[in-house]
Amino acid sequence: MDRVDLAVIGGGVVGALIAREAVAAFPDATVTVLERGLVGQGASGRSAGVHFPRGATERVRSMSQHSERAWAHLARELDLPIRAVPATVVAAGDADAVAAAYLRLGEASSRPRGWAVPPGSRAWDLAGCQYADVQGVAERVLAELRGHVTVLEGTEVTDLAVGGGHHRLTLAQGQRLLARRVVLAPGPWIAQPAWADLVAPLGLRVKKIVAAHLDEVPAPGDPLVVFHDEDAFLLPLHERRHHLFSYTCDRWDVAPDDADLVLAPSDLDDARAVLGRFAPGLTSRCTSGRVFCDAYSPGREPVVAELLPGLVFAGAANGSGYRLAPAIAAETVAALHPTPTSPPPRRQS
Ligand SMILES: Cc1cc2nc3c(=O)[nH]c(=O)nc-3n(C[C@H](O)[C@H](O)[C@H](O)COP(=O)(O)OP(=O)(O)OC[C@H]3O[C@@H](n4cnc5c(N)ncnc54)[C@H](O)[C@@H]3O)c2cc1C
Repeated sequence: MDRVDLAVIGGGVVGALIAREAVAAFPDATVTVLERGLVGQGASGRSAGVHFPRGATERVRSMSQHSERAWAHLARELDLPIRAVPATVVAAGDADAVAAAYLRLGEASSRPRGWAVPPGSRAWDLAGCQYADVQGVAERVLAELRGHVTVLEGTEVTDLAVGGGHHRLTLAQGQRLLARRVVLAPGPWIAQPAWADLVAPLGLRVKKIVAAHLDEVPAPGDPLVVFHDEDAFLLPLHERRHHLFSYTCDRWDVAPDDADLVLAPSDLDDARAVLGRFAPGLTSRCTSGRVFCDAYSPGREPVVAELLPGLVFAGAANGSGYRLAPAIAAETVAALHPTPTSPPPRRQS
């Protein structure tokens, strides 16, 4: 039976960054990433991949700052598919509350084309925004780690058991893997039989996420527009030559493998209804889109939690798993710290 110091279950953007952070923290440890499909093709593969420096709580604001710095560093080092974008925030109501939620708001300097600030609302510029091809990011991060990390794709973990100081992972092909430590980074696959009971006490739920695609070619300076009160945004996707409109879909308790997790006509109607408040001229362009889901926590903060000694859950990023992934990875490796280093990590054969 193969043995490793650390098994990371899930090859999404969160699992990829955890593997990277773990290799940096424990250079002598053996690390294996297990992915049931292909790297980056879960929630990460459907992500709009937007980062804006925002957080409803102090912890999330701090995670956002940490992640922004980390993404800037990684983008340079690994030549990641991440693109800076100018941004505008539109909100009505309490300007102080808006200013407290965002980290780098300034006076609005220009009016983007195609939409208007509704009466009673105000616009601000927001610095530090970017968007990414999140699947490409996860692939690049793990490609760079090969040689230090074993990446097993097409390898579903079907059972997880503890015994004799090790975690015993059963894989779909029938092999077993003994891991001293395990990180569970399953994205929205929180209810897999191998860990549903372990994860249940965290109170996580899975919500459908919808982003409409607008058949409108972005102009070079088009900004990301964040509609704060609606928790929606309009993003120019320059590489794909269309806009994306993300709005809040309120359908809960879906599962990532549900056959009906698809773009319904009512999803586009809902998207048009929200977009129409700001940009009535764009609603007729709202003709297609992407649909998937993500795990949400009761406190709407990402979860890094030790479920059993040496078994850490990482995720439930509430639709923000790309932008907060570096901070989630840092917290996860900190949670592993006392165990792989004492006694010091060693390669096992
Ligand atoms: C439409 C959409 C738009 C979004 N937009 C944004 C955005 O603009 N900004 C942002 O920050 N976030 C956004 N998100 C959220 C973000 O994409 C997710 O939070 C993030 O991708 C989660 O990453 P992850 O690695 O935790 O999960 P995933 O990418 O889902 O990775 C988990 C992996 O675990 C694997 N897995 C599951 N079960 C097993 C098993 N038994 N054995 C082995 N492997 C297993 C899966 O195959 C999967 O690849 C969006 C999400 C969606 C759906």
